[in-house]
Amino acid sequence: MNIIGMSREELHDLLKIEGIPAFRVKQIWHWLYFHGVRSFDQMMNVPKDLRAKLETLFFIHRPIVSQAQVSTDGTQKWLLKFQDGEEVECVHIPEVDRGTICISSQVGCTLTCKFCHTGTQKLVRNLTSAEIVGQMMVGRDVFNEWPTPFSHRHVSNIVMMGMGEPLYNYENVAKALKIIMDPEGISLSKRKITLSTSGVVPIMQQCGEELGVNLAVSLHAVRDEVRDILVPINKKYPIAELLEACRTYPGVSNANRITFEYVMLNGVNDTPADARELVRLLKHIPSKINLIPFNPWPGSSFECSTPQAISKFSEIVFKAGYSAPVRTPRGRDILAACGQLKSESERKSKSKLQPVDAAPLLV
Ligand code: SAH
Ligand code: SF4
Repeated sequence: MNIIGMSREELHDLLKIEGIPAFRVKQIWHWLYFHGVRSFDQMMNVPKDLRAKLETLFFIHRPIVSQAQVSTDGTQKWLLKFQDGEEVECVHIPEVDRGTICISSQVGCTLTCKFCHTGTQKLVRNLTSAEIVGQMMVGRDVFNEWPTPFSHRHVSNIVMMGMGEPLYNYENVAKALKIIMDPEGISLSKRKITLSTSGVVPIMQQCGEELGVNLAVSLHAVRDEVRDILVPINKKYPIAELLEACRTYPGVSNANRITFEYVMLNGVNDTPADARELVRLLKHIPSKINLIPFNPWPGSSFECSTPQAISKFSEIVFKAGYSAPVRTPRGRDILAACGQLKSESERKSKSKLQPVDAAPLLV
């Protein structure tokens, strides 16, 4: 059984059954998540016979990097392979004195947002908590950041913005993020974690209460007719319901705002009227606006908005009091930017690609 991804409580209970005293949990946890050890032999303050016993009960396993690519802008993308052979992509985006790791929550996605590459890949399965924590640990391994450095970390922030809808795999995502936030291990603050959702309204409250992480919401349209097509989950949870869940998201305040993501699609959602409506809709919600230039992928049928349309749109948003609203695309050359991720195996089997038909929106 993989010891990575187990909650502290689960570990505690399993060790108890084996007659191992509770104080060992703290030690083991510290070795695993503070020092990042890869074998029980490295747990120096754990007696030799106990290390041998742990070896018979558990193994320490992370996903394997089966392919790594580096963008001209320094962004890295890793194709990670799990024990059953399934794969996801995970991205590291370096910044001046920090770095963000973009983590996947599912192999594929059940939702079929029309502009998203992952959305063309059927859901294969949810990731386990071990596989989610494992992505963060691989990032730490790559940058040799064990034990956790005090400052200038390469892996200082997490965005749950990779493949899949994290709130459709909430249990495992929550378990993994609790491990990542645990102060005696990786100890990443909830303020450094952002979870992006396409708008799974019924889980949002629970996510805010239990995890308290920053929330990003993939809005992408200001009218239900358009959002129904771009982000089909809108038919289930329309804009008004989604915004109400945002307004009441636990902990939301001017110091802790919700980020609204808005992909800029040429001729679809990028008029000045759309920008004004966006500002009007978000009036009563402490919010940030993140305009994302559309990142193309093989077979995508949308175009990115023109620079003129983006600048006009962002000017309206800026004048309404939102600063720096346009997200710089990172790692586009290696298909590592927002919405470009997809497992390699799926990419190879073209027959599985679902047709992407944006025609009704483009007229
Ligand atoms: N499933 C979650 C998180 C993953 S997607 C969600 O939908 O929010 C992360 C962000 O990238 C979302 O805002 C998503 O809508 C956006 N995105 C998807 N495809 C994109 C593309 N081709 N170009 C730019 N952004 C895209
Ligand atoms: Fe899934 Fe998010 Fe892509 Fe939509 S944008 S298909 S929810 S990964």
